[in-house]
Amino acid sequence: MTSYPRLLEPLTVGPATLRNRIVMGAMHTRLETLDRPTERVAEFYAARARGEAGLILTNGYSPNMEGRLEEDSEVFDDSTDLGPHRVITSAVHEAGGLIALQILHAGRYAKHPFAVGPGKDRARINPIAPRPLAADDVWHTIAAFARTTELAREAGYDGVEIMGSEGYLINEFTAELTNDQRDDEFGGDFARRCRLPVEILQAARDRAGHDFLIIYRISAIDLVDRGMTGEQAADLARQVEVAGADIINTGIGWHESAIPTIAASVPRGAWTFATQNVKDAVSVPVIASNRINTPALAEELLASGTADLVSMARPLLADPDFARKARTGRSEQINLCIGCNQACLDQIFTNRTASCMVNPRAGHEIEFTRRDPVTRKRIAVVGAGPAGMAFAVNAAELGHRVILFERNDRLGGQVNLAAVVPGKAEFREMLGYYTRRLAGLGVEVRLGAAADAATLEAGGFDEVVLATGVTPRIPVIDGVGHPMVMTYAEVLTGARVPGRRVAIVGAGGIGFDVAEFLLGDAAESLDPAAFLRAWNVDPTLATAGALVGPPRANVPRPGREVTMLQRTAGRPGARLGKSTGWILKARLRQAGVRMVPGVSYTRITGAGLHYESDGQPAVLEVDSIVLCTGQESERTLYEELAARGIGARLIGGADVAAELDAVRAIDQATRLAYAI
Ligand code: NAP
Ligand code: SF4
Repeated sequence: MTSYPRLLEPLTVGPATLRNRIVMGAMHTRLETLDRPTERVAEFYAARARGEAGLILTNGYSPNMEGRLEEDSEVFDDSTDLGPHRVITSAVHEAGGLIALQILHAGRYAKHPFAVGPGKDRARINPIAPRPLAADDVWHTIAAFARTTELAREAGYDGVEIMGSEGYLINEFTAELTNDQRDDEFGGDFARRCRLPVEILQAARDRAGHDFLIIYRISAIDLVDRGMTGEQAADLARQVEVAGADIINTGIGWHESAIPTIAASVPRGAWTFATQNVKDAVSVPVIASNRINTPALAEELLASGTADLVSMARPLLADPDFARKARTGRSEQINLCIGCNQACLDQIFTNRTASCMVNPRAGHEIEFTRRDPVTRKRIAVVGAGPAGMAFAVNAAELGHRVILFERNDRLGGQVNLAAVVPGKAEFREMLGYYTRRLAGLGVEVRLGAAADAATLEAGGFDEVVLATGVTPRIPVIDGVGHPMVMTYAEVLTGARVPGRRVAIVGAGGIGFDVAEFLLGDAAESLDPAAFLRAWNVDPTLATAGALVGPPRANVPRPGREVTMLQRTAGRPGARLGKSTGWILKARLRQAGVRMVPGVSYTRITGAGLHYESDGQPAVLEVDSIVLCTGQESERTLYEELAARGIGARLIGGADVAAELDAVRAIDQATRLAYAI
């Protein structure tokens, strides 16, 4: 008897039988921009099929040129070479999986001059104003969706997903916010606003026949002013079912919503009430999505009747074998998505390709070929932060004998600091995963053991890998030794507690984390009710877009006064992750944090922090000053080993401290494990 009977139960729907209820959600990956794109994409999906995902949804393909998200996004129409698609679908089928093509028309989110929409207003997040579609154009667009469906079938896909959520074209037609200028068959009242998706589904069904899976992704909750109410979403879901959808997937919020929907600061399962609303309206299977990252939560949602399937996009980036591990009783070995967005969405938003922080092989599967058999080496790893743990686990998986030394009495290094910040509790999952894997793989972990050069020399190791991390940088400021000054590490470990008035020197990622640590409310990212209250979301779905007021307008200001300073001119936080920085900034703005860029620090005295701004001297009267001024690599051991003629390999922050981040550290560690 499995622990997840409902999650692993097959589902026959339309012509398809899914082997379980796990759907890999559609994701923009940009893998097509890398070398060997077809081979790469085919292996990316095939790995998830081998991992037993019930159904895979591809990234979105536009049905026509106007609907492309970006100038170089892919169109799937009569001009498309179906050959590479057949390679992809065959790879998935050979691996025992099913794959459906997502059809996405970007509407007014398109970042090129040919953007179109129901009206002429541009989106808050796009400088390009759309051209309003005439009724004839809309009919052509419907035909294009139908033709793409037919072509997808020819290319070997098992179905299509029609993208009707997230604020893209179809969603723009269904919401009053974006469809308030028409008075024709596609706008004027709610019934006419729904006509576009209904016509698309009917046309797609006509062209593809009944033995082809058609999924519709509805916007279950718009989270924008003048978006749909819950009643309207339920009404649309019923129309979509009648029009021919086999399955309804639920999308949460628009890209321009001012409410976080998938970041780690959103509690797990926070949006399931919106899925439930759709589920209650229809009899076809419904998919729940967003912040569902464990098999236990997925099982709970299915058992409670909230949904029939669960969509997991990022969780399957993090672990392609999620479903197989759940089936074979190895769920504690699942590498969980921690919702950080650092290597997936943030990379996509900065025109890079998606991968995963906790699984750097994601999207790079063809670069990580396992050598078999490996030359078994005895390897010493010093430092059990993200780099050291990732190296140790990967090297041990490849068959090496690994001894991991950690000076502290617990694993994790800087991960322990991140995990205490409100909204970052998921980092504990990363630590939990590595801890269990290290034990399961028989890595000899020596905690409280500061490996010295003599021990390493005497140990006769084949390789020595140094992941000794970083130390907080102490800037040269007169008076920096004053008792009111402390480092971010002292604050986040709880060794020092700042007073009521705090200056944060350095407004990088860690400066923002410290501000959130001092002011944030951890419950908000753990308790769905607290989260919805803080962001003014209406869980009854009675209001348009499910909003009851400006985001965070009701959150009381904390007692602490925090000022963040940086030497650089320009807005602090400019380098924070694109997908999460705005959330953090919104929270801190509401908490009354003052940001002071372009300063030069002059000295620290009992009166506070003295600095100059625009050539004018100023004193910030504070009780505590927290240094968040970056890090220096910790390389003492490396130098001691070098003096003995022992070559060691440096990874993570010990290698490069500048802009140290866990994505680079884990990627570097994993690649070294495969190369060693
Ligand atoms: P960081 O982002 O490089 O910021 C260091 C800050 O210290 C900068 O604001 C810099 O600003 C200031 N600084 C550097 N040297 C200084 C000096 N000698 N005197 C005074 N100020 C100095 O580094 P971090 O905050 O330590 O973060 C480390 C890494 O983790 C980064 O890659 C960061 O992106 C990542 N991270 C990201 C997040 C997130 O996205 N939410 C959270 C945590 C960490 P000025 O030079 O302008 O003064
Ligand atoms: Fe999840 Fe972070 Fe990996 Fe993205 S990068 S899939 S959010 S763990």
